[in-house]
Amino acid sequence: MTATIIDGKAFAAGLRARVGDAAAAFTRAAGRRPGLAVVLVGEDAASAVYVRSKGKATVAAGMESFEHRLPADTDEAALLALVERLNADDAVDGILVQLPLPPHIDERAVIARIDPAKDVDGFHPVNAGRLATGLDALVPCTPLGCLMLLKDLHPSLSGMEAIVIGRSNIVGKPMGQLLLGESCTVTTAHSRTRDIAAHVRRADIVVAAVGIPAFVKPDWVKPGATVIDVGINRTETGLVGDVDPAVAAVAGAMTPVPGGVGPMTIAVLLRNTLVAAGRRAGVTVDEGAL
Ligand code: NAP
Repeated sequence: MTATIIDGKAFAAGLRARVGDAAAAFTRAAGRRPGLAVVLVGEDAASAVYVRSKGKATVAAGMESFEHRLPADTDEAALLALVERLNADDAVDGILVQLPLPPHIDERAVIARIDPAKDVDGFHPVNAGRLATGLDALVPCTPLGCLMLLKDLHPSLSGMEAIVIGRSNIVGKPMGQLLLGESCTVTTAHSRTRDIAAHVRRADIVVAAVGIPAFVKPDWVKPGATVIDVGINRTETGLVGDVDPAVAAVAGAMTPVPGGVGPMTIAVLLRNTLVAAGRRAGVTVDEGAL
């Protein structure tokens, strides 16, 4: 069997177009564009690239982009004060503080200061709790993007065995909550899991968010399983995922790296910004149609 390659790039382009149309409708109804503020502290090259592409995508979707670049030696109090100003600014619907922050700043304190209604990254404990308890939440972009790709392929995930490899707050944990919300039977694996291959072999759905190149091996995967590779690992041979490309000979469907989950993250960020704008302004946004 050769896996169907899941074209995340094409799906993300479609999502961005739908968000663009809905953003135009929001602008007509609200008399202003949805606005996303992105805050970058320091000079990390990869973060600067992400922030630039987020800004460009925001403008391309018909939204306002507010970029705040602060020097690496910015202290925590100054960053918290900026977050407070953005919380109070009515033109700002979404606030994203690019991680990682310099080590002298407590990331958790900064995330906790963001107004949960503007927390388009979905990292605030209120949004994590809302997701876990089945309430409307702003959901972290990467796992929500993975779920959208999965549901495009399998409209009902109910009863499926799923394994999420990784338990970070950014990817693994919210991914597990989303799959549980879809009535999958979810296993979460991490660095202390014994015999990970045996767990993966049971799974109809495998989501790998580990950060180790080619970690998931072909003989771990149940034939026909759907495999979502979240990994972005920079190696001498270029960008590689957390799944061995040879898994494509066993899986039923699989995301490539690059061109799979990666493009979904920014598209979902735009979606979350529009959803936040709609909820804040009392303008109806058909979230199910996005
Ligand atoms: P992270 O915070 O470093 O978490 C990695 C997780 O993998 C941890 O839970 C860790 O377990 C687990 N792990 C590490 N070694 C393991 C092993 N040998 N066996 C089983 N589990 C192991 O990383 P992350 O932020 O979740 O990101 C994961 C990957 O996704 C990275 O490659 C990252 O670049 C990529 N990523 C991509 C996107 C995107 O847009 N596509 C977005 C975010 C992240 P412990 O908890 O026990 O340490």
